[in-house]
Amino acid sequence: VGREARVFSAQTEVTDELELLPTYAVAFSGCQLRCDFCVTGAASWNARVGEVWEAGKMEARVQAAVSGGARSVMVLGGEPVLHLTAVLELAAMVPEEVPLVLKTNGGLGREARGFLGGVIDVWLPDFKFGNDRCALRLAGVDDYWAIMTKNVEWMAREGGGALVVRHLLMPGHLECCWEPVARWLSSRMAGVRVSLREGYVPAWKADRHPELRRWVSGSEMERARQVAAACGLELVP
Ligand code: SF4
Repeated sequence: VGREARVFSAQTEVTDELELLPTYAVAFSGCQLRCDFCVTGAASWNARVGEVWEAGKMEARVQAAVSGGARSVMVLGGEPVLHLTAVLELAAMVPEEVPLVLKTNGGLGREARGFLGGVIDVWLPDFKFGNDRCALRLAGVDDYWAIMTKNVEWMAREGGGALVVRHLLMPGHLECCWEPVARWLSSRMAGVRVSLREGYVPAWKADRHPELRRWVSGSEMERARQVAAACGLELVP
């Protein structure tokens, strides 16, 4: 992604998990995945978009947001972990009593795990795909399942913060993606809290894939919730 971290958005948001809202969300440009349905594709696929990260300027904005009522600070992307130094600088400027949330696609390497363990208050991994085939076809990534499950287990065991696992429901991907993720969470992550996101929109390059050209149907949402209930998962609003 280059030497400079860039931020394509920094603002207070109210569309994430209820317990974190309002959150001051700082979004870094660039991502190592290439999800064709990425709603922030233009910035997430291009690490050169946005303003250059300057810790001093951001500290003033974080303080203003917290004074204005933000209950948490969320770092996201693209993939924020690609900008490890900037993420650590951000962590240092967030007041002790304000939770720092890391929203990540889960592709953490050993170095990132080493630096971020004990620093993040709420881990928010986005567990998108239930198998390597869909991950390769829709996001151009290899070995997705092994990397994701290893990192989610690490977050639960050694991450040092709370864990909420996200899954974005995609049209036509209940059986291949949501069900394996739900079953794995149920069998390996007893008591984990899960955020089942139902706001998929056919954005960016989604029309490359026929099944992604529509919204998730009401019956798919209902079936997805039934899967969660059958697996005994605790869904967070
Ligand atoms: S992981 Fe997230 S930010 Fe990266 S390409 Fe996929 S949807 Fe976009």
